[in-house]
Amino acid sequence: MANEGGSSEYTLKANEELRLDCPAGRSVSVRLEDGTAEIFGSELHRGRSVSVSGQKVAVFTWSGCRVTVQGEPGVVYVADETPNAAYLNVHQTLSARREEAAKAGPGTAAARGPVVVVVGPTDSGKSTLCRMLCNWAVRSEWQPTFVDLDVGQGSVTAPGCLSAVPVEQPVDPQEGFAADIPLAFFYGHASPGENPTLFKALCDKLAALLQRRAAADAKASASGLVINTFGWVDGVGYELQKHIISSFQADVVLVMEDRLHFQLQQDLKSSPRTSIVKLAKSGGVVTRQTDERRTARDHRIREYFYGTPTAPLQPATQTIRASDIAVYRIGTGPRAPSSALPLGASSLADPLRLTGLPPSLDWQQALMAVSYAATPEQILNSNVAGFVLVKEVDTARGTVTLTTPAPGPLPGRYLVLGSLRSAID
Ligand code: ATP
Repeated sequence: MANEGGSSEYTLKANEELRLDCPAGRSVSVRLEDGTAEIFGSELHRGRSVSVSGQKVAVFTWSGCRVTVQGEPGVVYVADETPNAAYLNVHQTLSARREEAAKAGPGTAAARGPVVVVVGPTDSGKSTLCRMLCNWAVRSEWQPTFVDLDVGQGSVTAPGCLSAVPVEQPVDPQEGFAADIPLAFFYGHASPGENPTLFKALCDKLAALLQRRAAADAKASASGLVINTFGWVDGVGYELQKHIISSFQADVVLVMEDRLHFQLQQDLKSSPRTSIVKLAKSGGVVTRQTDERRTARDHRIREYFYGTPTAPLQPATQTIRASDIAVYRIGTGPRAPSSALPLGASSLADPLRLTGLPPSLDWQQALMAVSYAATPEQILNSNVAGFVLVKEVDTARGTVTLTTPAPGPLPGRYLVLGSLRSAID
């Protein structure tokens, strides 16, 4: 390593990676000087600086390289042990399946490319592996669809969604997934445990919709799906993971932990079409605390409205009549403690019940989804056009002030409220 004027140069041997943990607000960038290198599967271009501020990343090289780091990361070190060769092996197997699918007649069952689900506990590197698999697939001229079911974070659109996006170019290390037209169903909560029945229902809807889309697009179909899941793998969380695997009819489940791998192998014995593959977690994966996750969630909401430093957006603030919108909640809202029920009684609450809500101060700071539904009955079956953030509710005047991604009328009259709140402005 050589250090000169706030910049340090590193020479990496083949299969080594430079791991950087860069706190938000401190400007850090990396530049490839020589050789070849990638950040989670996205190739770096020689001589071009890439900002990694606020990120935990690795610059990996298959054949050796020289990189410069500009600025001062919180942590920076070279690691010579990574699981990337095993990950690449998976990619090669998936690509062979894609080739086979592409050769099969369009619309036939054999024309379906691999559906891959990545499961594992929190901070096991699931999102990173999904990103690598998508990037390598794109670099091999495929167009996989990335499906994000990690409702607590949201890497495609705002948090609280089950979403999908076709990946047509490598994921930009700074900007993340390019999601001009994501397909999103709004679940509304940061944890799948808030309303597991709703989570399952939306999972089924997204899976069915993607299947219909694939039937109309041979390339998308052969390229398959890469599905990211949440890190809750016990109890109801585990049941939901199994639901995801069966709902999307997964061909391959990549598991980032031994116990979970064993459990899934036992439980999915009767589904021989699904291969359960154990993969090692990378030593570079950084553990995040609950408050860091909350901050990351807020950051995603902010990005939805304000964009990123390199691609800023100009949101609008508008005050509208409360009667111009109709706000609905799915499920029963905040759960009553079971002690509140009469002895022996069980709650008759319907987790899919739709309730229209009168304007309330309770909406303040709520993230609401604007549904494509044309009638309230369609809300559960409809994906969403976008999101608004409620700034203020004036119940006396009957007005609501919203932050919207752009000026102009909302793309729909029906709004869905969950439990996500944000005070980004
Ligand atoms: P979650 O449970 O929140 O969904 P996860 O299992 O998806 O987490 P990742 O988000 O992939 O885990 O990884 C956690 C963090 O570690 C991320 O900030 C990611 O950028 C970072 N990370 C992953 N691999 C590496 C690596 N090899 N070097 C440095 N940082 C890494």
